[in-house]
Amino acid sequence: MTTSIDQLVENNRAYAEGHQARHLDVAPSRRLAIVTCMDSRLDVFAALGLANGEAHVLRNAGGVVTDDVIRSLAISQRKLHTREVMLIHHTDCGMQKLTDDGFRAELQTATGMAPAFAIESFIDADADVRQSILRVRRSDFILYRDVVRGFVYDVDTRRLREVTID
Ligand SMILES: [Zn+2]
Repeated sequence: MTTSIDQLVENNRAYAEGHQARHLDVAPSRRLAIVTCMDSRLDVFAALGLANGEAHVLRNAGGVVTDDVIRSLAISQRKLHTREVMLIHHTDCGMQKLTDDGFRAELQTATGMAPAFAIESFIDADADVRQSILRVRRSDFILYRDVVRGFVYDVDTRRLREVTID
């Protein structure tokens, strides 16, 4: 059986053959880190006009600012010279279709063990973007907190809408 991964490995052969070898700096040229959801409909590079080597892109379920995202942002800023943080949630997110208690119970029922991690589901994407901005702004591990901006991406229209605090 051919899996999706087999096909992607094949795609990569063509990709590598179609491009000249080149070396980009490990530090992103736009000095930018983006935190967003793992959603398959959000093509971060295409939607933002980003090119290779320009930004760090951190993704998880929901685009939630977890401890692990703070870890990555601390490394991004302190070791790889990024200065700006862009947070992107989106419409029709899978995290709006479950609840913390419900999913926790589901995992516990299925495995006999409740997870140690927070589920971090949300109902209101705007409110969760604000929460994410605050988590970044309040983390002393992150050096540069002047430019931390949040957005909601519409997966149908492909438009970004900024969410502000205050
Ligand atoms: Zn999502």
